[in-house]
Amino acid sequence: MTSENEILFRHEDPLEKMPIPERERIMGEKLHRLARHAYKNAPAVKERFDKADINPENVHCIKDLEKLPVLRKDELIQLQKSSPPFGGYLAVPIEKLERVFQSPGPINDPERKIWAGTDLTSFGKGQIVMNTWSYHISPGGFMVDQMLRNMGCTVFPAGPGNTDLQLEIMQNLRVSGFVGTPSFLYAIIQKAEKRGLDFKKDFNLKWAMVFGEMGGASLREMFKEKYGIYCLGGDAYATADIGFMAFSCDRNVGMHVSTDVIVEIVNPNTGEVLGPNEVGEVVVTPFDEVYPLIRFGTGDLSTLIIEPCECGRTTPRLPKIMGRSGDAVRVRGMFVHPNQTNEVVSKFPEIASYQLVVTRAQNRDEMTMLIELNYQHLADKDKWLEDLDKSFRDVCKVKFDNLSFVTKGTVPVGAARIIDKRIY
Ligand SMILES: [Zn+2]
Repeated sequence: MTSENEILFRHEDPLEKMPIPERERIMGEKLHRLARHAYKNAPAVKERFDKADINPENVHCIKDLEKLPVLRKDELIQLQKSSPPFGGYLAVPIEKLERVFQSPGPINDPERKIWAGTDLTSFGKGQIVMNTWSYHISPGGFMVDQMLRNMGCTVFPAGPGNTDLQLEIMQNLRVSGFVGTPSFLYAIIQKAEKRGLDFKKDFNLKWAMVFGEMGGASLREMFKEKYGIYCLGGDAYATADIGFMAFSCDRNVGMHVSTDVIVEIVNPNTGEVLGPNEVGEVVVTPFDEVYPLIRFGTGDLSTLIIEPCECGRTTPRLPKIMGRSGDAVRVRGMFVHPNQTNEVVSKFPEIASYQLVVTRAQNRDEMTMLIELNYQHLADKDKWLEDLDKSFRDVCKVKFDNLSFVTKGTVPVGAARIIDKRIY
């Protein structure tokens, strides 16, 4: 990595580069304070702790909360309905809130300090940054706005849409940074080119922080190569309920979990905490004394890498979000998600369509791949089958049992890629 890139990454959070046991001790103290505060001030937290027979005085590490059931989004929506507006989770008087939001669900979100986040990537002072996340109703725009201002940037609150106007403002204000989705930035660039402008020369855009979409990596690469726009970091992981939780560093080897939160990976069916490299639901506990959603289930699937990163950070990493836990099927102890099977199949252009069928025989889960081929014959069938089998095991961490070639049209268009036909 060039030194130019390096200066963009702040290392102001000493916790991130600390030896793991030392950081865990400090995080444990923070968790202890949070548990005591939340228990005292948020009635819903008290109720949950009491029910699970947990005394906040005894909470010193995340393991001490293992008995506390994961709080699901659906449950929070119900709690908010029966005890509006925040379901008993607000742990400060309402007059302390500067803003409130609502996300689809509907789910009410108070504005929180945590949204300042640990900003791994920084635009730095003296830059005008265009924030194209929405400022209306849901918290995204303000979340990013606050983070940018904390970094010392001057924010232009653009919001999404209206590409023509955005383009003109970007030029007039000499905007040097952009935050939003990669595809929106690309739409703005394309519009400029349609008007006969030279985006590299006629604009001052130097930096972009683009995330929120799958497959952003190739666009990022193109922004840099073709337009000289350096994309800060890589991916970031945030949800409306929690805010920013993880950012990738300049090595782009997964997203470092912020030290403002504790992330656990759990079996979405049983709530059991899973070990490193096992795929499960991302459960997060933010150190947020305003709205302490302790052990909140995001519904996203991922895994934790605990080996320290080459960048010097010792914080755990989320390699990527692999999908929603609801779409995954657990087979012989492993979650298989359609994103994984799609990834496998994408490497085999011979496959026109497919479906993975899960059944159960003699108390054992069985997976059958139904495959529709584009061609009548495979050049080297044995080798092809071997490659497919290996690729499937590499990506899904589990082996399929049977494979059946079916005639075109057998798998209905738009059908689920994985179907669970197990009867217990
Ligand atoms: Zn790193």
